[in-house]
Amino acid sequence: MGREHGAPDGARDVVAGLDIGGTGTSVVLLDGERVVAREHAPTPARDGGAAMAATATGLVRSALGATPGARLVGAGVGAAGVVDAASGTVVAASDSFRDWAGFPLGAELGAALGVPVRVENDVNAFALGESRLGAARGLDDVLAVTLGTGVGGAFVLGGELYRGPRGAAGEIGHVRGFGDLPCTCGGRGHLETLASGRAVARAYQRAAGTAVAGAREVADLARAGDPHARDAFAAAADAVGRAAVLVASLLDVTDVVVGGGVAAAWDLLGPGVAESVLREPPVSGAAVRARPSSLGRDAVALGAASLAPAAALSLPG
Ligand SMILES: [Zn+2]
Repeated sequence: MGREHGAPDGARDVVAGLDIGGTGTSVVLLDGERVVAREHAPTPARDGGAAMAATATGLVRSALGATPGARLVGAGVGAAGVVDAASGTVVAASDSFRDWAGFPLGAELGAALGVPVRVENDVNAFALGESRLGAARGLDDVLAVTLGTGVGGAFVLGGELYRGPRGAAGEIGHVRGFGDLPCTCGGRGHLETLASGRAVARAYQRAAGTAVAGAREVADLARAGDPHARDAFAAAADAVGRAAVLVASLLDVTDVVVGGGVAAAWDLLGPGVAESVLREPPVSGAAVRARPSSLGRDAVALGAASLAPAAALSLPG
């Protein structure tokens, strides 16, 4: 049973968690820890920040419309891009978005929804979701990595999200030391060139000479025994394991949670990651433990929602 929240008129207080990604926008409504509604729509990333905010607002309204008696008291957002969490503004974004960098997302959504809104980078929200409600629940020192279209990373250290002074801590996807392939960011040899969904698909295509739609198709081929497909996942797994050891050596995190579309094939990825982290353990001698996301597609929205109740009660400033 969900908890009542002291509403004398029978209304139930709910918070919204929003996941605004490059391709899709998802909304969950939470009554306590219980998801009472979900909505999803494509993100109009090419139409600009205002259109993206309008899509997100519309999804929240649809979710509320489908939940009689629900009263929205706060919202949290996990947004693609570098985010200034204090102001709720998107600071930097990839070129797949138009008019997103500089967009005052928190202020716009707060005005449209009439509730306090907290905004966080989407990978940071993923890390919060998994550490508060998911696979890393109860763990204080965790690296979270998302293997999607790109590769993102975030930390929970000492039980708290560590953002860094510019909100960009944990960006393990774009450091060198992972081969020499060109990266989407313009660099070379980044983790993303081996471990993103696109990278897995391209690795397969290079080896097999056959086009595939994406990493999910490569996963199906790997499960059917295709050696090139298995190699593509092995290379991604090895790279993720090495990245985890790198971070564990610097920050002594004990665990890594891996999410995103590629991690959905944990049967193919997990054994290779485990092998990779055991091969070169950190100087502590304690191998970092790797586990898949347990919240799946809801992870970012749930992590974002977990920011909302506190925001409703005690917004700084
Ligand atoms: Zn890069």
